[in-house]
Amino acid sequence: AVVLAAYLVKREALELREELGSGQFGCVRLALLRSKSHCSRYVAAKALRENAAPTEESEFLREACTIASLDHEHVVRLIGVCISDGPPLVLMELAFFGDLLGYLRARRHLAEGADCAGRESFASYEEAAHVSSEALTRLAREAAAALAYLSSRGVVHRDVRAANCLVDARRSLKLADFGMARETVAGADGAPEYACRRRGMFPVLWMAPESLAHGVFSGATDVWALGVLVLELVTLGARPYGSMSPLRVLEYVAAGGCPPLPLDATPQTCGLARLCWQREAERRPSAAEVHAYLAARPLALSAALRN
Ligand code: ATP
Repeated sequence: AVVLAAYLVKREALELREELGSGQFGCVRLALLRSKSHCSRYVAAKALRENAAPTEESEFLREACTIASLDHEHVVRLIGVCISDGPPLVLMELAFFGDLLGYLRARRHLAEGADCAGRESFASYEEAAHVSSEALTRLAREAAAALAYLSSRGVVHRDVRAANCLVDARRSLKLADFGMARETVAGADGAPEYACRRRGMFPVLWMAPESLAHGVFSGATDVWALGVLVLELVTLGARPYGSMSPLRVLEYVAAGGCPPLPLDATPQTCGLARLCWQREAERRPSAAEVHAYLAARPLALSAALRN
């Protein structure tokens, strides 16, 4: 709450516009924030839904506190909070292209059309649709940079995936959704807390074997998820593990499996995925090492886009 004191915004300064999306806490709306000292600006206003429990309200504001404590070009910024005269609102920088998963899938529809027209047009499409090797690699490096920063701050995100990243007007990635994030204090992590927050919903498809088996989260489990995010990038938002049910994925990963890669994935993509998905957490690269890996070995779009 002390952290948020510097961010308080009066409700009258806000003009709420259309809905941008919705999540477990409630909906996110476009809003115009009027300010005396600065020009007015558009922001994303996240509202807590009406019937939220008090524990959900504190979780909601806790996420705002976490974002307020972070300062990185690839981590979404907190603009303000409204806590008087009504349900709380958290104001965040607006990401013009919305979440990364929606962004990738919108491009996938275009790619499928271009693919039907033949490989030649598919190649030119990659440039036009901003899914060239450079564009995909840049997004992956930005996610890695955000995670390297979190790691330097002793924060574990615990829910890294394309749906939890945003894309701004410059097509730059912003890591968001810090509802699950925790400081790496011994004993602070725990599956029951996680289960409670998600009402039993685990992001199983992005979880490392040790998270699935023992509820352990660390920088290394964020790197496993980063590997799955890379898979989402090169397949333009395909569901990891295809149509396998979460329960089946749990068994499959427990038995030593990891997400299947597209048959045409490049050696660079396969190499990075294998590093991120090593069974032993200590053997996985750090986020900073993934960032460096990508500088030398760019990703490429998989043409096998269908699940
Ligand atoms: P949760 O895991 O909390 O359910 P979520 O990502 O599904 O998370 P929200 O964070 O509430 O839900 O966001 C819902 C949707 O609103 C996002 O998927 C995205 O499309 C859109 N959105 C959220 N924040 C922004 C933002 N800062 N700029 C633009 N769009 C946003």
